[in-house]
Amino acid sequence: MAYKALLAGSMTVKVDPYQTSQACPRCGYTAEDNRPDKGLLFLCQRAECQLVLHADLIGARNVALRTLLARQDWVSTGVLSERPDVSDDEAKAAQRKRCAELRWSPDTSLRA
Ligand SMILES: [Zn+2]
Repeated sequence: MAYKALLAGSMTVKVDPYQTSQACPRCGYTAEDNRPDKGLLFLCQRAECQLVLHADLIGARNVALRTLLARQDWVSTGVLSERPDVSDDEAKAAQRKRCAELRWSPDTSLRA
């Protein structure tokens, strides 16, 4: 299933939901263990981080970050690069690597 995020205006972007509930939006650490007992709390297992947040908010932030990434590419290249339906494993892996490098911070902005 693809998440859909609505941006200002009326553009809808499909983003890859892969591991959106397991990836820490602050430090990028991604692991199943970040969801103790697969519960509703996200608890980053990285000792220096230990971010604690409701799992739904983690998912929402990661989806938002991926949407920003797709929008940035779209603005700079004119191509909507986020294509979850892409069958090319290499392209998918590259996209996920970029997603893994995304960080949520108060100054996350569209540098377009
Ligand atoms: Zn973390």
